[in-house]
Amino acid sequence: MYESTRGNLSGQSASQAIALGMVPKGGLFVPSTFPALKWQELQGLSYREVAKRVMADYLPDFPEETLDKIVNVYNDGTFDGQNPAPLASVGNFGVLELWHGPTSAFKDMALQVLPDLLNVSLKHIGLDAEVLILVATSGDTGKAALEGFKNREGMHIAVFYPQGGVSPVQERQMTTTEGFNTHVIAVKGNFDQCQTAVKQMFASEALKAKLWENKLVFSSANSINWGRLLPQIVYYFWAYLQAVEQQKVAPGGVINVVVPTGNFGNLLAAYYARRMGLPIAKIICASNKNNVLTSFFATGEYQSQRQFYQTISPSMDILISSNFERFLYEMNGRNADLINSWYDQKNLGSFKVDPQTLKNCQEIVFAGWADEDETLATISHSFKAYQYVFDPHTAVGMKVYEDYCTSSHDTTFTVIASTASPFKFASNVLIALEGTQGKQRDEWQALKGLSQLTNWEIPQGLQGLDKKKAKIVDSCQPEKIVEMLQGLFIK
Ligand SMILES: *Cc1c(COP(=O)(O)O)cnc(C)c1O
Repeated sequence: MYESTRGNLSGQSASQAIALGMVPKGGLFVPSTFPALKWQELQGLSYREVAKRVMADYLPDFPEETLDKIVNVYNDGTFDGQNPAPLASVGNFGVLELWHGPTSAFKDMALQVLPDLLNVSLKHIGLDAEVLILVATSGDTGKAALEGFKNREGMHIAVFYPQGGVSPVQERQMTTTEGFNTHVIAVKGNFDQCQTAVKQMFASEALKAKLWENKLVFSSANSINWGRLLPQIVYYFWAYLQAVEQQKVAPGGVINVVVPTGNFGNLLAAYYARRMGLPIAKIICASNKNNVLTSFFATGEYQSQRQFYQTISPSMDILISSNFERFLYEMNGRNADLINSWYDQKNLGSFKVDPQTLKNCQEIVFAGWADEDETLATISHSFKAYQYVFDPHTAVGMKVYEDYCTSSHDTTFTVIASTASPFKFASNVLIALEGTQGKQRDEWQALKGLSQLTNWEIPQGLQGLDKKKAKIVDSCQPEKIVEMLQGLFIK
């Protein structure tokens, strides 16, 4: 069963939690208990089998055959190569490559199964309406969600992205999506404004009533939806199994995990895997210059009223990390009253937690951040040292990992979650590798340049993107998002 972090709803089935996306009166769905799972039980299984096993306990209302079909996506060529999430051995650490899906970012790992999870959930609750998926994206979720939901009967998707706040490849990926049910809207603002507008639309009774008259209900493909988080738990088990198999860690020994963080979904999935019994010691939370979380883990104060920076790791340009609420709910001993006081509208996204909660957070998470020069330097020196290319998000993780090693002298085998292919951010990666030479190239030449320099192949989904026909994209001010949506969907 699932309950709300704000104590305003409980006893909901997995189907209800996934179909609703977010708790209607505010708050996020969390499982009421964490099923224990021994990693030994998973030894020798394929990724799709591991996925089925990890997800099954959280989805008691899903018949086995249904789940079987859903996880088949990990085995049907949607992800390139035999292994959807290989653990590359780099130096004395591991890099969990989560970008072998159709859009070259880790979001595919979950967004290729969410549409099916949602479809089944809607059937279970017997809803007589079509769904409208609202997505706020800092770049990667948008395309991954569009790919997952395009051309699905009974489902519509509207993606809001910050105009000028995503990379050229990311923008082009979104605007070239086909499908009769896809809408892409450029917002003249930043990601937080997109996300806040989407959350407000979810909470607006008036808007929901109007949609209902048009036989439509909202759902979410952002990581506020439990159906997004659940498939992400799987790959931490998978990483551990590979680390044991590669003899990087003794069977049963602990590992550390580094997560380049934005909305805190990926990190939360690692924490949930840990709660299920996976031997993870520290989780390292890596932020870019938008380092709200780094400050939080140092002081216990979440201060989102601060300068917003656009960086070369745009998918981490986030000041209000939605899933942090779920983490705090565990760290404060599941105290919904405290969550309510911290997430009170009047606080404008800023609050301070009690010392015990902070201590609980610090025991599990080490937090650090890297600025843009450090990120570029890390891409460059890592390539020299290991002939391995990091994208700018994973490079932030790498830098914070180096800082962690220096300050802690911890030699535990560490897995860095690699969240995107370097080709998605080719020109900045080339600037890092070649200095300013890279600057003279456009993004499409940079893809070729990066391929030549590294001998890595350009991922399929990014090939020929410049030649594809782009849709004309609607654009609006953040305060006009609701109007825009009504214009598109309400007769
Ligand atoms: C979404 C994203 C992140 C941040 O992940 P969260 O789950 O939002 O913390 C980091 N890197 C890349 C490349 C992403 O697309």
